[in-house]
Amino acid sequence: MPVTDIIERFEVIFSTTCGCGGFAEYEVYEDKQPHCKACMHDAVDNDIPVLVRKIG
Ligand SMILES: [Zn+2]
Repeated sequence: MPVTDIIERFEVIFSTTCGCGGFAEYEVYEDKQPHCKACMHDAVDNDIPVLVRKIG
């Protein structure tokens, strides 16, 4: 398997997995960090407006 294929697969997996290891359902912040529902709630639970977009 070419190395580029492996990197591409890794990015697909990474892009749908939250930092906690959970399944990411939301993109949070301008740089679209993947978050699961629980971590998305933590991210938006402050006084600063946070950009959230549902994945899919
Ligand atoms: Zn999470």
